[in-house]
Amino acid sequence: MALSDIRVILVHPTHPGNVGAVARAMKNMGLRQLVLVAPCALPDPEAHARAAGADDVLAAARSVATLEQAIAGSSLVIGTSARSRAIAWPSLDPRAAAEIMAAESVQGEVALVFGSERTGLTNEQLDRCHYTVSIPADPQFSSLNLACAVQVMAYEIRRADCPPETAAAGPDSSGAGTHPVGSEDMERFYAHLEQVLVEIGFLDQANPRKLMRRLMRLFNRSRPDSNEMNILRGILTAVQQSQRHAQYLTKSVGNPKIS
Ligand code: SAH
Repeated sequence: MALSDIRVILVHPTHPGNVGAVARAMKNMGLRQLVLVAPCALPDPEAHARAAGADDVLAAARSVATLEQAIAGSSLVIGTSARSRAIAWPSLDPRAAAEIMAAESVQGEVALVFGSERTGLTNEQLDRCHYTVSIPADPQFSSLNLACAVQVMAYEIRRADCPPETAAAGPDSSGAGTHPVGSEDMERFYAHLEQVLVEIGFLDQANPRKLMRRLMRLFNRSRPDSNEMNILRGILTAVQQSQRHAQYLTKSVGNPKIS
């Protein structure tokens, strides 16, 4: 099963516009399986309008009478709730839930359940769920619009499936470079850097004041790749050349024979 097969279940949605907006939110994030439990009357012009191009997801939505029918065949069922309940179900944050759904979806069927606009999921409905998820919001106003809640969860599912390039690629997100250089290259760079800093009088070896340690921490954080390392080493070499040139000029001014 692919992540796109994760079933989004809406229990008794009462506003056709919300059902349409849910279809759109799902399609934006690559989800296709919408199951409606005892929904409002559909098709409906408002649902169609709010689907805004996701009519295929809307048209393929399956309507069933009960939550039990909607979750049939699922090995993992996750319920969503705006409220923390008196009875505590095992709970996850949206990102952790999406990661568990992504892992489970490889071998089994996964259902993500949303409650009715006014009442949310009942405790009996949450009893059917392995976990509950709450989207962290302002505690004074924590209930999101149904389609907005679907959007947040669908985004996390997509993120779990294909993490943003930056997360996968580490600090080098430009795509231009290669892997960070190895420790030997970093050591050579630090030796070169130290030598140049001494030559230009910035580092006093008698009083180093942890300068090299601070600089090493800085460059270790940035983990330069080979292109970036070539630039850094090139800068150091250019500094040395101009330093030597300046010394040569100073000497030749002091020694009129060299002209
Ligand atoms: N008054 C209801 C809110 C229903 S909102 C209640 O207090 O539960 C409709 C549905 O949107 C909820 O059942 C839930 O599935 C989802 N939802 C809304 N806000 C949410 C939040 N902060 N976290 C997770 N799901 C949320």
